[in-house]
Amino acid sequence: MSPAFDLVVRRARVATASDCFDADIGIVAGRIAQLGAALAPGLREIDAAGRVVTPGGVDAHCHLDQPMAPPVRMADDFDTGTRAAACGGTTTVIPFAAQHKGGSLRDAVADYHRRAEGKAHVDYAFHLIVSDPTPQVLASELPGLIAEGYTSFKVYMTYDDLKLDDGQMLDVLAVAREHGAMAMIHAENADAIEWLTRRLEAAGRTAPRFHAASRPMAVEREATHRAISLAELVDVPILIVHVSGREAVEQIRWARGHGLSVFAETCPQYLFLTAADLGLDDGYQGARCVCSPPPRDKANQQVIWDGLADGLFTVFSSDHAPFRYDAPEGKKPGGQEVAFRHIPNGIPGIETRLALLYSEGVLGGRITLERFVELSSTNPAKAYGLHPRKGTIAIGSDADLVIWDEREFVLSNDQLHHAVDYTPYAGQTLRAWPGMTIAGGEVVWDGRDFHPRAGRGRFLPCGAPTLRPRPR
Ligand SMILES: [Zn+2]
Repeated sequence: MSPAFDLVVRRARVATASDCFDADIGIVAGRIAQLGAALAPGLREIDAAGRVVTPGGVDAHCHLDQPMAPPVRMADDFDTGTRAAACGGTTTVIPFAAQHKGGSLRDAVADYHRRAEGKAHVDYAFHLIVSDPTPQVLASELPGLIAEGYTSFKVYMTYDDLKLDDGQMLDVLAVAREHGAMAMIHAENADAIEWLTRRLEAAGRTAPRFHAASRPMAVEREATHRAISLAELVDVPILIVHVSGREAVEQIRWARGHGLSVFAETCPQYLFLTAADLGLDDGYQGARCVCSPPPRDKANQQVIWDGLADGLFTVFSSDHAPFRYDAPEGKKPGGQEVAFRHIPNGIPGIETRLALLYSEGVLGGRITLERFVELSSTNPAKAYGLHPRKGTIAIGSDADLVIWDEREFVLSNDQLHHAVDYTPYAGQTLRAWPGMTIAGGEVVWDGRDFHPRAGRGRFLPCGAPTLRPRPR
């Protein structure tokens, strides 16, 4: 008699967003076929021996091989980016197909498929970035793409090459409402940033650390409130990405208190970094941690932790935006140490996201294991229409699993698998790391070695978002 399962993970301490229970996990053809005690034998057996097993992570905010203006180029493509994801326990990534002003959204999607095709080691879906909402985009391209499985898009209130004005924001939010898409919003006030940046430059304050001074909390608070107001006018749910601190959190609490459907995302940089990581003097090393919004301070980190624990935040993403530090295509464009306004924005984090939250959040006693799963896997899958295929451990779901190793070590960049020459979290003591990552029933990371199979990762068309607003 042939074995009942392709793979059985035995004696797992299974954690989902709602429960923890002990079970064997039986896998057939890349999907979870059975959960229970003493399952029949599998062709392959892995003994989890009471270790915590979570669903594979869903990183719903990461940038891979996104076209940039030369000489700047992202360090990670779909090969190295999904390799790093897998080794860090993430089995689904949702990067961005970005429209260029003057360009077509459909062309951006076609180009992005070419970049991903045959390269990904884990499954992937696409968000859209809408930077030029022409009548053609609003009436035809965007609704057509939503119907084809691109059910979420990001809009920017800042960055010259991406930002929309308030009228354009209302236009795209109306499309989201009519067609049931999820709108993600980067909330910072562009004009205020430009004005502050010019003042700093006029005073000769161009070192990386002044990046933080050019984007203070009020800039984010105002735009967060404005985004909420625009969504209220259209009567559509929105998701505010990369919330960095107290004042933006207060706007979201206010909105929820008024019955508005406002979802919120935060990222590791707002828990583990502060503005001091941009530099205490005018040295250039702080360019490593230049991202927007900038990291704040210890008090704001605590506010973010509180929001993760109490349900304010919906999803926890990396916002992985990979640029090499010591490179002319990275943080030193053209080989120069440049003024902060010209430093490519973003930091790597696709591989460290889960271990940081598990170590400091779960093992540090700040959030429950169930909440960890909800934030890092289940809710992102629901928000972007991939649940229950992704984001949970259930019969019929894809066999995407992380078996956790709880052990203490000091993180260094040479342990990581991205193509970036640094991690902002080097020197951080971690208390856990994925001991094994299983994607579609295949072991992709065994705790020591990565098992590549480019093209293993498949494109996932997304359905409608299934997140429900939290009760007030
Ligand atoms: Zn952003």
